[in-house]
Parts: sequence; C-alpha cells; structure tokens
Amino acid sequence: MRQSHIKELNPFLGSFLYIIGGEIAIYVGMELLKSESEDITDEDITESIKESIEGTEIDFEPNDSEILKLNTVRKTLYKLYSEKLAQFRRIRDKSTGWFIYYWWHEFDLLEEILLEKKNFIENKLRDRLQFEQNNYFFICKNCQESNIKYNFDEAFELNFRCSNCGNPLEAQDNQEIILLLKNKIALIQNIKISID
Ligand SMILES: [Zn+2]
Repeated sequence: MRQSHIKELNPFLGSFLYIIGGEIAIYVGMELLKSESEDITDEDITESIKESIEGTEIDFEPNDSEILKLNTVRKTLYKLYSEKLAQFRRIRDKSTGWFIYYWWHEFDLLEEILLEKKNFIENKLRDRLQFEQNNYFFICKNCQESNIKYNFDEAFELNFRCSNCGNPLEAQDNQEIILLLKNKIALIQNIKISID
C-alpha cells in the first residue's frame, strides 16, 4: 500500500482544494486522506461524506432532496485528477459489467504542482513584459477616440503620420504597464512555496 507523508489537510492544501472545487473538494480531500491504506470508490466517498455531514446544516445540493449526489463527488474527483492531485484505476465489475473506479490522492505532489503554476505565471508575465518593452505603439492625439494604435513597423510605413487625419503620430507611453508587470514579477518571485 502506498504511504504518504501528508496525514492531514494542512491549510495550504485545504485552500488549494477549495480553489479547485469549492467546499466539497475539501471533504473529498479529507476522505482520500482517511482511506490511504484501502481501496475507496467514488460511491464509498459519497456515503462517507453524507454520514459525516448528517445532522449538520451542510447541504451540497440545495436544490435537491439529497444532501450530496454521487455525480457531484465524481465531478470533484475529476477536478482533482485534472489538477494532478488525485489518481484512479478502474476495474470492470464482472456481475454488472460496469466499471468501478478506485481513487487515491497525490497530495505529495502539491509543492511540485504549485511550483509549476508559479513558474507558468512568471513566464507569462515575462513574455508580456518583453512584448511591452519591444512593442511600443503610436497613436494620433487628434483621433484618440478611434483608439487606433500602430506598432513601430506600421507607423514607419505611414511615415509617422496618421492615416486618418495626417497629423504626426506620437509614441504611446507604456511605462506604467511595464512598471506594473515588473512589480508583479518581483511579487511572484518572492512567494515561497513550502508545504511542511
Ligand atoms: Zn489622426
């Protein structure tokens, strides 16, 4: 049986689960942690959560007489799966012919997943910064309402004259957005991701 060093839902993991799938994802996450050493199906998880919230105010299906549907748990498990936080194997039930899905968590990968996300965002911001630094635009102050922007090549082609009114084109100041992007990059670089 697989063993994990994560034994409880720490606040970091809890927050991430919440972002992925709302409150139900936290409950599903707790069930996956509880059942680390046994095979657990989506049906088992649903039943176990239903038991745990019985007699409380919690109702995951406000428009339904049931407090939690199997389908809601399945959807949540797939959300965790698509974020690489859960895995499953399926086995065909010989008597019914249906597939049975056994689930387990991959919460040990959380740090790696978050680092990946952090790097992804940082790269996106850097691309955008580079774009802004390499592409400044030219506008015509006279035709500002039309919102026409020309990049350098286009402005050059036009001899830096507005194609609409013939007035000289002026470089648009994008220092503000460049500064904003630089600040965001610095901010994300300073985020320390540590689960323990
Ligand atoms: Zn113009």
